Amino acid sequence: MIYLDNAATTKVFDSAVEAAKTAMTECYFNPNTTYPIGVKANSDIEKHRRAISDAVGAKNGRLVFTSCATESNNWVLDCCRKNAKGNVVISAGEHSSVYEPAMRLKNRGIDVRIVAIGKDGTIDEKAFLDAVDEHTTLVSVIHISNETGAVNPIKRLVEFTKRIAPRALFHSDGVQGLLKANTSIDSLGVDLYSASAHKLGAPKGIGLLYIKNGVNIAPLIVGGGQEQGLRSGTQNTPYIAAFASALDECKKMIDYAKSVRVRAELSKIFIKNGCKIIGDGNNSGFILCVCVPGVKAEILQNAVSSYNIVIGKGAACSGSHRGNRVLSAMGLSEKEIECCIRISTFVDTKYEDAISAAKIILDTAKRIRSGNV
Ligand code: PLP
Repeated sequence: MIYLDNAATTKVFDSAVEAAKTAMTECYFNPNTTYPIGVKANSDIEKHRRAISDAVGAKNGRLVFTSCATESNNWVLDCCRKNAKGNVVISAGEHSSVYEPAMRLKNRGIDVRIVAIGKDGTIDEKAFLDAVDEHTTLVSVIHISNETGAVNPIKRLVEFTKRIAPRALFHSDGVQGLLKANTSIDSLGVDLYSASAHKLGAPKGIGLLYIKNGVNIAPLIVGGGQEQGLRSGTQNTPYIAAFASALDECKKMIDYAKSVRVRAELSKIFIKNGCKIIGDGNNSGFILCVCVPGVKAEILQNAVSSYNIVIGKGAACSGSHRGNRVLSAMGLSEKEIECCIRISTFVDTKYEDAISAAKIILDTAKRIRSGNV
């Protein structure tokens, strides 16, 4: 199979499966108990937390494990519930796990400002400067777009925000950025950063929130006070072990130059065959959004699956929602959006596989247009 929907999820590394299995079968004890084997389970969590922190460059903050990035993002937006006086600034390019909680704040009467994104998929910086003011309490801007791979200039946006609103918290949804952006979390200067393990070769059901030192936010989930009182619920020890193991594997395998090369070559092939690259500018090498004119993405997706090729079409987690809010915000028409496929690679994607898949996708599109599929 040539799997090219890695922005939706990734195959779990064998080593991550093994790490989870060991935690399930050998050290399966509740990490919050006080007997020695429970204490060992807890010290394993701390060992994995340190390994993850080292892998992603998070020395200036603490990492709190959550169930997924959707939870981390909801948590961040929820911190603003009580602060009805200030305003919240997000971009129009946010994933629904930021956008929907922001809409909930808006419905509760909070001033939520949605900053436009440009044709290249990144935030309109001038509009951002206009939106942030001294009353801003929270800013949330996605690091790398899950739709187009567009990379937002987070560091610059943080610096600007802190100049205008020094007490505002700056959050970034780093689900497609963690490790894949080749920058440490610390270097971005953010107060809060969300990530998800299943985009990096670990299982679904484990995420994290980076909280910069000195930043205090109230927990979303309360109960037993686990995770330093910030996220109650017995920790998912097997998946925390798998997360650390997967990041270790990713660090060994990741080749940024190769990902950029693959994306550039794919772009060239698609453009040569009359397709349009959506959101082309400063992009992650791992995500490519292509409009294949005259062919609905869903039909193309199904047709290429008979060649054992898996491609995406927009956010998989948009579930039953129709259309695509982010691509619409970039100015694409409904007709164009219907024809957008997303090709997303990972550290285990082979260059030759990606290129041969592109050729099959184009060939299949041609046959669909001529009614031969
Ligand atoms: N944010 C972005 C940018 C994503 O791409 C995704 C998942 O696709 C999420 C958040 C949600 O992550 P999770 O599946 O861990 O809830």
